Amino acid sequence: MSKTIDLAKELISKKSITPDDAGCQQLIAERLNKLGFKVEHLRYGNVDNLWATLGVSGPLFAFLGHTDVVPTGPIEDWDSDPFIATDKGNLIVGRGSADMKGSVAAFITSIEDFLGDHPSLTGRIGVLLTSDEEGPAVNGVCKVVEYLEQKGEKIDWCLVGEPTADNKVGDVIKIGRRGSVSAKIIVKGTQGHVAYPDKANNPIHMFSLPLAELSELSWEDQTGKFQDSVLQISNLNSGTGATNVIPGELELDLNVRHSPSTSVEQIKQDVESIISKYEIEYESTWKIGGKPFLTTQEVLIQAVKDSIKEVSGIDALCSTDGGTSDGRFIAPTGSEVVELGPGNASIHKINESVKKEDLEELNKIYKTLLIKLVS
Ligand SMILES: [Zn+2]
Repeated sequence: MSKTIDLAKELISKKSITPDDAGCQQLIAERLNKLGFKVEHLRYGNVDNLWATLGVSGPLFAFLGHTDVVPTGPIEDWDSDPFIATDKGNLIVGRGSADMKGSVAAFITSIEDFLGDHPSLTGRIGVLLTSDEEGPAVNGVCKVVEYLEQKGEKIDWCLVGEPTADNKVGDVIKIGRRGSVSAKIIVKGTQGHVAYPDKANNPIHMFSLPLAELSELSWEDQTGKFQDSVLQISNLNSGTGATNVIPGELELDLNVRHSPSTSVEQIKQDVESIISKYEIEYESTWKIGGKPFLTTQEVLIQAVKDSIKEVSGIDALCSTDGGTSDGRFIAPTGSEVVELGPGNASIHKINESVKKEDLEELNKIYKTLLIKLVS
């Protein structure tokens, strides 16, 4: 029997769809209490967060994860109940198995195993969990970070358990993430009859040239660690539905996933200067989805790479692609942030699954990391 798999299964059986934690953090708190952790339950709005620490002095290493999961989608499309962890060969199937209850289980069992062999610490261990990573993320890790700053608490090294592996645990780790910024642009025309275009102002026609220019926009990455930043238009709407009416407005949504080399201000300026050049009347609303980050100090990255090599014999690839993660809230405090978790091929999908061997491997790699950093 494997206690990492058992704990993962117990967590999967709790129906913790964002922002409901459904008792996951209580279960984790009981395990950490037994190990002597000081556990704090921090509830902001309808979001449960947990912050637990062990140790008195020295650098603080923290595991960061989430207990919430995305909705199941059509339940009849699943081969088994998404909230009953089901064995299928070498897989465990269930919502949250890979993203990221499996890693959360491995956090806890690795700490238990580590403390069994190394009862005295040279640093401190922290565990930070939220039930709002998959949702708006306003009452989750960003609020906990504010609370920790008020207390004068700083995480030196942060390991995020998001699923990062392509084929096998440790083949890919993330050392940064791109930022995300989106905009809604409303182009103002004048509605009229198609037979009298001189008495109307067609926003579709007006916007055809700027649209072509916008779709070509990209910004070069200077760090050498990210892809170039590219603009993508995700929605474009105009027209009244009638074929004889020139519409009065055109609306479009765009998003840019950007490297730390390109600021939101730069993106905004470049987009708006293209539209303004055509003397078009428009309104724009901008929204920052997440700031980019890149870990440049090497202590945590090296320790994670060495731990993977020792346990699995793999040379990890350092990547920065994919969506945003809660690492974006920790990195600005000056901590080193690295993400390492199981395979990500099935996350958010029907029949989400995790390889059992991935969880066993994570337990060993996390334990080796603790030995390197706080013993
Ligand atoms: Zn996740």
